[in-house]
Amino acid sequence: MHNVDAVVIGAGINGASIAFNLAKRGCRTVALVERFTVACGGTGKSAAIVRQHYSNQVLVKMVKRSRDVFEFFGDEVGGSAGFAKTGWFFFVPQEVVEGFKKNIQMQQQLGIRTSIVSKDEVRRIAPQINPDDAAAIAYEPDSGYADPYESTVSYIQAARALGMKLFQSSPVRSIRVRNGKVDGVVSDKAEFSTPIVVNASGPWANVIGEMVGVTYPIQITREQEVLLRPQTPDECPAVSVSDMCNAIYFHPFGRELLVGRGFPKKYEEVDPDNYREGSDPDFVEEAVERTANRVPAMAHALILKGYSGLYDVTPDWHPIICAHKEVEGFYTAVGFSGHGFKLAPSVGESLSELIVTGKSAAIDLSVFDIERFAAGRLFQAAYGGNRA
Ligand SMILES: Cc1cc2nc3c(=O)[nH]c(=O)nc-3n(C[C@H](O)[C@H](O)[C@H](O)COP(=O)(O)OP(=O)(O)OC[C@H]3O[C@@H](n4cnc5c(N)ncnc54)[C@H](O)[C@@H]3O)c2cc1C
Repeated sequence: MHNVDAVVIGAGINGASIAFNLAKRGCRTVALVERFTVACGGTGKSAAIVRQHYSNQVLVKMVKRSRDVFEFFGDEVGGSAGFAKTGWFFFVPQEVVEGFKKNIQMQQQLGIRTSIVSKDEVRRIAPQINPDDAAAIAYEPDSGYADPYESTVSYIQAARALGMKLFQSSPVRSIRVRNGKVDGVVSDKAEFSTPIVVNASGPWANVIGEMVGVTYPIQITREQEVLLRPQTPDECPAVSVSDMCNAIYFHPFGRELLVGRGFPKKYEEVDPDNYREGSDPDFVEEAVERTANRVPAMAHALILKGYSGLYDVTPDWHPIICAHKEVEGFYTAVGFSGHGFKLAPSVGESLSELIVTGKSAAIDLSVFDIERFAAGRLFQAAYGGNRA
């Protein structure tokens, strides 16, 4: 039996960041308990694009802070996040231009370096890109992408240096609750006595929630990505891109381009323990076609690899980050809906502050409470539907 200050369940980027920040805030004994291996969930498959374009202030503040942590990881955490400051373009069609302009203005007011750029400017920065069909284009010079494994591992190594203990291959099987308070955790490898448990188990959130009577309104969807190698290295744009006109995103990955589908797209709800981890031929074909609309040379690219990961999606495509009144000491950070990599540094800082001090001063986490769904206080995305 280990007596610890806190148990964090799930060693993805969010669990790792939360464990590190708890240790940094003075929790001397933190246990990070992982069912299999580090970053084996959504994190390991992530494109890990770190862009700062959001439609509400709280997420903009969170991602601004997170981006700074990713860029200066060595000073802020220790080790490296593998952050590549490539710059990021956002191509949008006519129907969203009004909301897009308002977003850019709001982001600028919050200190993000972002602006609307001309098509000539796009061609100057990335001559491989054809911007012709876009109604408007934003550019963030400070954004880019990180390495999801490296980031998670670096958080864990830094937390271990502060005394945190990692337990791998150790699925959590039950959580003990006594008199309405968290009392302990039982996993395959170890048993813990603890007053604090954080559920950061991503797509498996409801397996953990069920142990304390909490149900999360999340769907698990399968999300595919493909790695394309152009004929010559200079045909690969050196910037990261989200493209609403072609419903794709991509970033350079060595000599290749990593491409995924944006919205709108079909949902494929799956069982997280039993889904096809490869890619589908029609997905790959369409991804190449859509990418070639934006980067013409990609029409001749080799398809190197396709694979699938998981999103944990809430009804408003925003995460659930909160304490639970009905079970004292039980906290949640799940439901990141396909955009939770870039938020993780701020999630760890603000949730650990809430846990240790009872409030989160810089970021108002109350907007992410699970009660918003029953109360009808859902987030509204500026671009409609599920585009957070
Ligand atoms: C294809 C793809 C592309 C993406 N691209 C981006 C992007 O460009 N930018 C961005 O910001 N986000 C992106 N995301 C989303 C982002 O990767 C996720 O939101 C984020 O990584 C989720 O991290 P997490 O720590 O919350 O969950 P996860 O990484 O899923 O970690 C949960 C962990 O909990 C563990 N666990 C589960 N059950 C138990 C148990 N019983 N006991 C112990 N441990 C357990 C799992 O094994 C897992 O390791 C993408 C996701 C995918 C799939």
